[in-house]
Amino acid sequence: MGTITQSLFLALVVPLLAARRARAAVEADVNVSEHLDDEPVGLWLPDRSEHYTKSFSTVLTIIDEVLPGEADRLTALVESIEADSTQEATQKAMKFHDVEKYQFVAGSDACDECKADNGKIYPVSRNPSHHRNCNCEAKPIKENP
Ligand SMILES: [Zn+2]
Ligand SMILES: [Zn+2]
Repeated sequence: MGTITQSLFLALVVPLLAARRARAAVEADVNVSEHLDDEPVGLWLPDRSEHYTKSFSTVLTIIDEVLPGEADRLTALVESIEADSTQEATQKAMKFHDVEKYQFVAGSDACDECKADNGKIYPVSRNPSHHRNCNCEAKPIKENP
C-alpha cells in the first residue's frame, strides 16, 4: 500500500468516524435530556481525528506487511461505498424533486471519457457517476420552470 492510497483511506474514514461521533453526541444529549425532562445542553465530544489517523495508519501498515495488496482493497472498498452513497443520494434527491433529467457536468480533473460527455443530458435513472473515482456532477434540470 503506497502513501497515497493510505492517506486516501484515512481521508475517507476519519471524517466518517468524526461525523458519527458528532451525531452520537447529539443523540445522547437528546436522549438523556428526554429522560430527565430537561433541555439538551448542546453536548459535543472533543475531536479525535488525529488519534484515529494514528491508529488506522498502524493497522494499515501491519495489514500491508502481512497481506500485501489487501490494504489497497480495503481502500477501494471504502471509496466505492462512499461513491455509491453519493450517487444513490443524488438520484434519490432528484427523483424526490420530480426531476427527470440531469446535465452531466465534468469536473476540472475529469478523464477524457467524462470530458467528452460534458454538457450532455441524461435521464435520472442513469448513474450520474460514470466510473469509480468519477467526481463529475449531475446538474438537475427543471421540467417546467
Ligand atoms: Zn471520467
Ligand atoms: Zn467523471
